[in-house]
Amino acid sequence: MPTLEDAKRKVGELVVAKGFGNTESEIPNKLLFAFIELGEAGDSWKKGRPEAETVEELIDVIFYVLDASRLIAPNANLDEAFESKWAKNMGRPHRYGEGFRDKKSAGP
Ligand SMILES: [Mg+2]
Repeated sequence: MPTLEDAKRKVGELVVAKGFGNTESEIPNKLLFAFIELGEAGDSWKKGRPEAETVEELIDVIFYVLDASRLIAPNANLDEAFESKWAKNMGRPHRYGEGFRDKKSAGP
């Protein structure tokens, strides 16, 4: 099964092979494109397009996130970072981060 590190390496290969920007100065564009692809995924889903099309847009998001990550932190191990963050979030309370909703619904 491919890992995040495998996927990051393959995205790097794609960027080089296809002549896309491969420097730190491209980081803002990569992050912007990730948002754009996320919008395309949302639009595809909202319009009831075939699942495969929406999934492809989500993969585009992942491509740009991985591409940005390798330029932002070339030495970071994303598999370790994922496991670490997963464990951190699993240690948090039920529906963590949504407390503001309870406060809001309780009124002034
Ligand atoms: Mg797309």
